[in-house]
Amino acid sequence: MRVAVLIKQVPRFEEMSLGADGRLRREGLELEMNPYCRRAVAKGVELARAAQGRCTVFTLGPPAAEEVLREAVAWGADDAVLITDPAFAGSDTLATSRALAQALRREGPFDLILAGRNSVDADTGQVAAEIAELLDLPMLAGVRILDLHHGAVHAHCEQDDGWLDAEVRLPAVITTAERLCPPCKVGPEGRAAVRPEHIRPMGPVDLGEGPWGQAGSPTTVGRVRVLEVQRRCQVLGGDIAAQVRQAVDVLRRAGALDGTAATELAGSVPDSGAVTGTAIAVLTEPGRPRIARELLGAAARLAADAAARVVGFSLEDVDPVEAGGWGADEVVALQGSAVEEDVAAAAAQWCSEHAPWAVLAASTMWGREVAGRLAARIGAGLTGDAVELEVADGRLVCWKPAFGGQLVAAITASSPVQMATVRPGVLPLLQPRRAEAAVETRTVAPRGRLHVVERGRDDELDVLATARTVVAVGTGVLPEEYALLQPLRDALGAELAATRKVADRGWLPHSRQVGITGRAIAPCLYVAVGVAGKFNHIIGFRAAHFALAINSDPLAPIFEAVDLGIVGDWHEVVPLLVRELTPAESAARS
Ligand SMILES: Cc1cc2nc3c(=O)[nH]c(=O)nc-3n(C[C@H](O)[C@H](O)[C@H](O)COP(=O)(O)OP(=O)(O)OC[C@H]3O[C@@H](n4cnc5c(N)ncnc54)[C@H](O)[C@@H]3O)c2cc1C
Repeated sequence: MRVAVLIKQVPRFEEMSLGADGRLRREGLELEMNPYCRRAVAKGVELARAAQGRCTVFTLGPPAAEEVLREAVAWGADDAVLITDPAFAGSDTLATSRALAQALRREGPFDLILAGRNSVDADTGQVAAEIAELLDLPMLAGVRILDLHHGAVHAHCEQDDGWLDAEVRLPAVITTAERLCPPCKVGPEGRAAVRPEHIRPMGPVDLGEGPWGQAGSPTTVGRVRVLEVQRRCQVLGGDIAAQVRQAVDVLRRAGALDGTAATELAGSVPDSGAVTGTAIAVLTEPGRPRIARELLGAAARLAADAAARVVGFSLEDVDPVEAGGWGADEVVALQGSAVEEDVAAAAAQWCSEHAPWAVLAASTMWGREVAGRLAARIGAGLTGDAVELEVADGRLVCWKPAFGGQLVAAITASSPVQMATVRPGVLPLLQPRRAEAAVETRTVAPRGRLHVVERGRDDELDVLATARTVVAVGTGVLPEEYALLQPLRDALGAELAATRKVADRGWLPHSRQVGITGRAIAPCLYVAVGVAGKFNHIIGFRAAHFALAINSDPLAPIFEAVDLGIVGDWHEVVPLLVRELTPAESAARS
């Protein structure tokens, strides 16, 4: 049994903080192993040992990335490969995937390739999918429980807003959820004790002809915008009733209660102009109608600027009038398989026939795998998790957040087909137009390497993404007390979100977790109740228009990350807040 583990070095997020200007304090930023990769190493070592096999760890990075390999070897990995050379500088995800895939071919064959679900700095989640495609392997993403027997992996996977039980025969690529197992963690002394011969450097001479690095990267990072969030950090104090009255007054004046501050007129889906021109393809995941509509509307807007037609790919029954209304000029109805690798193969075939201008998918786990595989197949530049799309000089510009949303960078692709996955819920839902799409049916040939046993949803992905108001709970609110927050949620029309501690304890689903390893959301009003306000959490609501915190500890860090703070026990604050927010009750008192 040979296990390969792919790891990445990232900035140490736990130590990060925001300055008063809302910017990341970057001085002395330490580097460490990506948290998801820590689980991949721990599991890889465990599986290799159990099977009396070997576990080899790989990373691509500057010479300093050796430190994360040392940690993995100190934890128990048998050896490590450091792909490093100035020639690899500026590698985007595809160039990284190609170099790692080549190293895996050279050192392999491996039975199992483990990687973290995504890296917390770039958060594309596409390297593993691209490697799976380049090595022609099946893949399972976000694995939370993993059993290995009789040459197959049986896994329970954490998906965006649900779960999947599946089986896959080895060899396969598996990406790990954060809660798969305790992480690999070794202190400086243990890392320093690793002997140099355990770590083998590898360069372009070993990996063969590139192009590598920037020369082999079809995407380019352009302008960068720093997300300026000037929180007011006004912390009230003293008499609770007086604090609540003052808070509601501030909220009203800030437009945080009626949503006016954040509402924009979305407009309608533009009429199709160029039905014979080039195409923008939209890959839509089954069972996510709202996300499909957002993407089709966005594609129709881009199509108007790029003189293109919109071709939606659907795995469900197609209503031509509905699809046309939301923005599709044509629909390719795929039948036969919704498995990611099969859909990617069918889309690649279509791309080779139609040479589209761009391909879009949602940055759900399904979308990331399909898009990652397709990009690897056709050599396309893929921007992961874009939050804004525009056309400039005839090219697609994708704005992508980095460092947990601290920055947004404009990414363009130099490849003939430009690709992006788009974060669900951030693009506006447009008013449908009157139009009918032409429908073509294609059959997808199933590879049959991955067997889905059962899948389910415990939430709806779009709920938090599109909520205008969110009440987030930390461990300061016990699960049996959530009902006590219902009147506040009713008064505000709010959805419920959670900190990681809450999700870890199973009090609310993982899909409700806000933060660096959860979701980034942008409601009009964010109310944090019993939330400490650690960096890893607050990064997730940076784009909120207004943030309010209720915490009994006047020194809680949350007060430095919100516009307004009420210091008090929420059991006392919340009923008063409800009374103040409910017009009839506050009028009766005045
Ligand atoms: C790699 C990594 C990734 C992480 N990713 C995330 C992430 O994505 N999202 C995330 O949230 N966290 C994340 N964390 C964890 C994060 O660092 C914090 O540990 C976590 O957010 C704290 O959760 P909490 O606020 O619920 O709990 P606690 O730290 O336990 O805080 C509870 C708060 O409730 C207050 N409180 C208690 N009782 C009351 C009361 N009656 N009335 C009012 N206030 C009360 C307390 O004063 C305290 O401030 C991550 C950590 C690591 C290491």
